[in-house]
Amino acid sequence: MGITGTLFDIKPFTVHDGPGIRTTVFFKGCPLRCAWCHNPEGLLPSIHLLVRPDRCIGCGECRTACPDQTPTPETSLAPACRVCGACVVACPAEARELVGRTATVDDVMERLLKDRPFYEESGGGVTFSGGEPLAQPDFLLALLSACAKESLHTAVDTSGHAPRAVVADVAARADLVLCDLKHMDPETHRRLTGVPNEGILSNLRYLAGTGTPLAVRIPLVPGITDGEENLNEAGRFLSGLDNPPPVHLLPYHSYQTSKYTLLTLPYPLEGRDIAPARSPVEAAARLESMGLTVNVGG
Ligand code: SF4
Ligand code: SF4
Repeated sequence: MGITGTLFDIKPFTVHDGPGIRTTVFFKGCPLRCAWCHNPEGLLPSIHLLVRPDRCIGCGECRTACPDQTPTPETSLAPACRVCGACVVACPAEARELVGRTATVDDVMERLLKDRPFYEESGGGVTFSGGEPLAQPDFLLALLSACAKESLHTAVDTSGHAPRAVVADVAARADLVLCDLKHMDPETHRRLTGVPNEGILSNLRYLAGTGTPLAVRIPLVPGITDGEENLNEAGRFLSGLDNPPPVHLLPYHSYQTSKYTLLTLPYPLEGRDIAPARSPVEAAARLESMGLTVNVGG
């Protein structure tokens, strides 16, 4: 069967995760807990059940199908849900869904190769994202090698929070690394993401010196990462790297809040005044004035 991994989605025709038209593979599981996370379905490394109460017609088929006969339709899990999927199959209203699936390298490659004509026409390829793809290093490295054998361009979208040895292996096999830079202040970074930023900054310094094409992604979260001090610090840090990488500013969206509702997770920024400190264009101008190449949106 070979190496397997856990994914929560494979999306074709993505255009913000590297050059051209791409297919993005979303790995499940992330060691960070960013307050503004756009993909909360990718946080947990394991497969789990999601229930859409608004679709439930109260038929009780899920309870009958469940080996433990205990799922409550309007919420979600049986007390010891074994994630068997029986209730998902039984539900006539498509109110239940398993989030995530186990896949082999061959499964994923079979899917990716279907989109080869689009990659070839547009100068695109495959992007591995998440979740955090570097949290499943064996699976990621095997996929990068398989893509290289098929001459598919690869990009890896990472938080940068990973052991150096994994970062080095990925940099050696990927055609492009997209690495986040969320906040420069160590304490603020820890508070907003749950992890320190020292290792991420160190990995960015390392990546900039490897010769592997690198782009740095800064999420512009209003009132959190778009402040003057953070942008100035980020600009100083990036312009001081060997081969300063291009910067992609990622505007904030709030569409993910409905995903939190479905997952019965609290949205960490709920109710917060999130007026932006500056527009993405102003933020881009600030970083450009420090000698960086900047684009807004991906
Ligand atoms: S996934 Fe299986 S164990 Fe979990 S609630 Fe549904 S039927 Fe029960
Ligand atoms: S099977 Fe689906 S529609 Fe029926 S009670 Fe369960 S969740 Fe609701």
